[in-house]
Amino acid sequence: MRLDKFVCKSTELTKSQAIQRIASGDVRVNNEVITNERSQVHENNIVTLSGATLKARAFRYILMHKPAGTICSNIDEVYPSLFNYIKVDNLEELHIAGRLDADTTGLVLVTDDGHWSFNITVPTKHCEKRYRVGLSRPIADDVAEKFKQGIKLQGESQVTRPAKLDVVSPKDVILTITEGKFHQVKRMFSAVGNRVVSLHRESIGKVSLDVEVGEWRYLTNDEVQSFS
Ligand code: URA
Repeated sequence: MRLDKFVCKSTELTKSQAIQRIASGDVRVNNEVITNERSQVHENNIVTLSGATLKARAFRYILMHKPAGTICSNIDEVYPSLFNYIKVDNLEELHIAGRLDADTTGLVLVTDDGHWSFNITVPTKHCEKRYRVGLSRPIADDVAEKFKQGIKLQGESQVTRPAKLDVVSPKDVILTITEGKFHQVKRMFSAVGNRVVSLHRESIGKVSLDVEVGEWRYLTNDEVQSFS
């Protein structure tokens, strides 16, 4: 989290007041004066303001079962926001680590810890997302190999990262990917002449969906740590 945000969250100061106090040299991180409000602070850092230790507010980590016809946005638009289902304070501080389309269902992770969600969404961390996919046509025999090798999506310069395809039945497959390009799953099947008719995210990393549609729960410590 940025230092100015941390100071705001752990005091009554406004953002501009926090920036002013940081610029004045009133804020120390691990006993070192930091005057750049953009510096990053992490959970184990000790931050003081004029000598008083600021208490880090606990971050929140939530697992949610997204219903169809909701959007991964903090506000209602054409469809209602997923956040209508989550009954916690300061909802506006939360964001989604890896959005789903309005018609996609399944596992969504919600947090106010940007450092943590970066580990989930950035492709270089290879975090696996597993999708159950319903198709309009029977899957062709060569698709698993094509996805393993990586395919070129329309408008992209690089091929997709290696993905794993498991066939449950001809029109029902499981696709595991480690990146999250815009509409990636739908575009991958479109690129091999098929069409996604239903899409459901079953798991992200080691975390699997285990609540009913529209329900949510906090992640366990082990689940949170599994993305660090
Ligand atoms: N890929 C898609 O095409 N849509 C989603 O919602 C998630 C992954």
